[in-house]
Amino acid sequence: MTKVYNFSAGPAVLPEAVLQEAAAEMLDYQGCGMSVMEMSHRSSAFKGIIDQAEKDLRDLVGIPENYRVLFLQGGGSTQFAMVPMNLMRGIAVGGADGSVGHADYIVTGTWSKKALAEAQRFGDARCIATSVDTNFDRVPDMANIQVNADADYVYICMNETVNGNVLRELPDTQGKPLVADMSSCFLSEPIDVERYGLIFAGAQKNVGPAGVTIVIVREDLIPEGDLPGVPTMMQYRTHADAGSLYNTPPCYAIYICGKVFKWLKSQGGLAGMQKTNQDKAALLYDYLDKSNLFRGFVRPQDRSLMNVTFTAGDELDAAFVAEAKARGFENLKGHRSVGGLRASIYNAMPVEGVQALVEFMREFEAHHS
Ligand code: PMP
Repeated sequence: MTKVYNFSAGPAVLPEAVLQEAAAEMLDYQGCGMSVMEMSHRSSAFKGIIDQAEKDLRDLVGIPENYRVLFLQGGGSTQFAMVPMNLMRGIAVGGADGSVGHADYIVTGTWSKKALAEAQRFGDARCIATSVDTNFDRVPDMANIQVNADADYVYICMNETVNGNVLRELPDTQGKPLVADMSSCFLSEPIDVERYGLIFAGAQKNVGPAGVTIVIVREDLIPEGDLPGVPTMMQYRTHADAGSLYNTPPCYAIYICGKVFKWLKSQGGLAGMQKTNQDKAALLYDYLDKSNLFRGFVRPQDRSLMNVTFTAGDELDAAFVAEAKARGFENLKGHRSVGGLRASIYNAMPVEGVQALVEFMREFEAHHS
C-alpha cells in the first residue's frame, strides 16, 4: 500500500481508524447484509446511524437543547445563501411591507468575501470590517467592530482556509446573532455554542467526506412559518421539522461523520484535539519563523492552526511542491487564487506527518540556499 501524507485543504485526510472501520463494514453493515450506501434513509438501521451521529456531536461539543443540529447538502456555498434567506428579516416578511433585511459582515478572506457577495443578492449586506488592504495577512481588531443597529445578524468566517488566518476573539455583536462559518476549523477545538446564533461547516475538512454540511442553529432563529418565495429546500424550518430527513440526506457521508465523532471522543474530545492541533501547528510555525528561505503569510497572532500558508519565493514554490510530492507529501500548493504554499493540518493529520514535513523543508532549504 502506498501511504502519503495528505495536506489537502479539503476534501482532506480522515482518521485511518475510521477508514478501516468503514472498509470492514462496507459490504455488510452490522448484519444488515448490505452497505450503508445501499440502505433506505427511512430504514431503522439508518435512523440509528443519524440519531447516534447527532447524539455524539451534541456530547462532543456540548450543544445546548435549544439549538438544532441539521445535516444538509449543498456545501458551505449553499449556506452563503441560506443564511440571508432565513435570517434577514425583510425576507421573512416577504418584503411585503417594503422592508429589506440587513446584515453586517466581517471580511477576513476569500470565503467571507464570497459569503458577503451572496448575501448582497438578498438584502442590504455590508462589510463592517476587513483586512483586504493587507491581503488578509491578519484579521481586523475585534475591539473596533461597530455593529449597525438594524443588522439582523453579524457574520464571520472563523478560519479562512485559503488565506490561513483565524479569529481568536469574537466581535461584540450588541446582542445580534453571530453567524459563523467554521468549515475549516469545526471540531478542532472546544466551541462555546451559546455565543453563536448559527454555526455551519462543510464536513470535508475536519469531519468527514464531502456531501454533508452541518448546521447548528438556535431554535428561535429558525423562521416559524413558510418563507414566501424561498424554495422549500432552502428553508431551515423544512429540515428542522423533518429531523434532516425531509428528502434523501447524504447518508454515507453522515455515517462517516458519526465515526469521526466517536474517534474524536477517543482522542480526548475537543480539548484533547486542541492541544494536539496547537502542538502540530507550533512545529511548523516555529520552523517557518527560523527559516531563511520559507516565510509565513499571516502575522503570528492571527495564524490558523489548520491551514498554514507560506512561500519559498516565487521561483521555488513550484519546485517545492514537485519535490515534496515525489517524497510522499501531497497537496502542498496554495489555493489557485493566492498562489504560494499551504499545508492543511486538520485533526486527522498525525503529528508524525507534520514532523516529516518539517524535516523535508529543512532539507529543501539546505539544498536551495
Ligand atoms: N467556507 C470555507 C471556510 C471553506 O473553506 C469552503 C471550501 N473550501 C467553503 C466555505 C465552501 O464550501 P463548499 O465547497 O462546501 O461549498
